[in-house]
Amino acid sequence: MQRNLIQFEQALHPGCDDGASPDNFADRLIKIGKDPLLAKSIDVLQVNLGCRCNLACKHCHVQAGPLRTEMMAREDIKAVIHILAGSPIKILDLTGGAPELHPDFRFLVTTARAIGCHVMVRSNLAIFFEQDPAEWPDFYKENVVEIIASLPCYNAVNVDAVRGSGVFMQCIQALKLLNERGYGRADGRLKVHLVHNPSGPFLPPPQELLEARYRKELLENFGVGFNCLYTMTNMPLGRFKDSLIKSGRLEVYLGELQKAFNPATLDGIMCRRQVSVGWDGTLADCDFNLAAGIALKKDCPSNVRDFDYEMLCRRQIVVSEHCFGCTASQGSSCTGAVAGGLPALKCAFSVVQSS
Ligand code: SF4
Ligand code: SF4
Repeated sequence: MQRNLIQFEQALHPGCDDGASPDNFADRLIKIGKDPLLAKSIDVLQVNLGCRCNLACKHCHVQAGPLRTEMMAREDIKAVIHILAGSPIKILDLTGGAPELHPDFRFLVTTARAIGCHVMVRSNLAIFFEQDPAEWPDFYKENVVEIIASLPCYNAVNVDAVRGSGVFMQCIQALKLLNERGYGRADGRLKVHLVHNPSGPFLPPPQELLEARYRKELLENFGVGFNCLYTMTNMPLGRFKDSLIKSGRLEVYLGELQKAFNPATLDGIMCRRQVSVGWDGTLADCDFNLAAGIALKKDCPSNVRDFDYEMLCRRQIVVSEHCFGCTASQGSSCTGAVAGGLPALKCAFSVVQSS
């Protein structure tokens, strides 16, 4: 089963390359006349509440785990609320680590809801089983929280290999609890989306095709449903980068991302419409730049307590080599693919073969 999915992923070599030789991302933007890369707006405030997590996944770009202790300070949480209350930003996207492990998590969610914000939480779902399993689903339903949950595959072998033994079945149980509360219905207001990461240094398959496969497998085998599947490219950062270095595949992977560079993704990459706040209050263009220690450009405010909406809406985005991860092929963002136009027939053929 694992081999089948890997073949499925490897079938995708989309040929979006513009013929340029491998280079750095900033040079690539200059070559295609897209430098400087500017923000378009700020629709979403993404907040990383800390590095503590109940899991320690192999692909984790922030190297989160049970032994990490970093957490956002109460003063910075208040600064986040202040921004939401006093600016046009009305979408709060909470991530971590496991955001639920922050002691102020419930306070932040309920306060953001009370001031009219939509709240999205990036939950690993396994966190439900650290306490009464009904507590988080009930809380999420009560606050109409949109859930985005990592599930790298639709079978236990592949998921447990990346996330730890038994995690897949915990995710299935969690999805059942959410479905029972109305999450995952096509016409419902309670949304739970799944996130697929490839099992190795490959690009994800086309999102629509893989979503259909996930839907069929999860419904037929476990009776669970979800709203959308988001495919995300593994970023050459954190634990995934370490594993690439150890296996001697970092340069090859970076070369693959560069070859698959697709200029059509540049409008949809998340840094154009959001700002990220790190657990220590640092502002960055995205969670990946935060993980890489790359702050906003020098002329921008550097800390959440100095947030300036108008200025940040016009900022120049700081790019680095991992930006090729967001712009390869169909693109990759916190809400999945950002561009279409892929070799669907080739991938569809692989899906049929692996059925
Ligand atoms: S990928 Fe998510 S669930 Fe896994 S260790 Fe990192 S933060 Fe935790
Ligand atoms: S990593 Fe992605 S989201 Fe972040 S700055 Fe680069 S292109 Fe934008």
